[in-house]
Amino acid sequence: MGAFVRIELENLEGRKGDFAHVYQPEELNPIDERIRLTEPAHVSGRVRRSRNQVFVEGHVETRAQVECDRCLQPVELPVSADFALDYIPGADYESSEAAELTEAEMSVSVFDGEAIDVDEIVKEQIVLAVPTRMLCRDECKGICPQCGIDKNTGECKCVTDDIDPRWAALKNLT
Ligand SMILES: [Zn+2]
Ligand SMILES: [Zn+2]
Repeated sequence: MGAFVRIELENLEGRKGDFAHVYQPEELNPIDERIRLTEPAHVSGRVRRSRNQVFVEGHVETRAQVECDRCLQPVELPVSADFALDYIPGADYESSEAAELTEAEMSVSVFDGEAIDVDEIVKEQIVLAVPTRMLCRDECKGICPQCGIDKNTGECKCVTDDIDPRWAALKNLT
């Protein structure tokens, strides 16, 4: 599948390139193995090019859905992210000076020197904006590890030694 928004840099020298796009959820889903969009993603921004560097800045806004870490029920959350990215064309990246620079600055990406793939930026920004751990609510009881019942909606008779998972983790260290 081809990119929806690809900004060709050929004619951009010394000028500002504004862009804006609305992605339908199904155009980007799945974002990764855990994140799906439930509403359209709005992106807007601008691309600037100087001699051998490209700067992209903008904003992404949408709603995403992930599974609760404990009970696996869907959790929806708003996503709102500002981004500012520096790109160095692949050929220049090979030269040692640029390579050292990019190792120091994680916001620098390498690209093919011809176009900026906005689809990829949007997906990346959504992944970065969604917390790696999400709970449906703070007091989510999770799933019984023995019978699999969702303990928020039902009780089971399983006997578990009720160890706080944080203590269990400490126990494993010793
Ligand atoms: Zn939960
Ligand atoms: Zn159980």
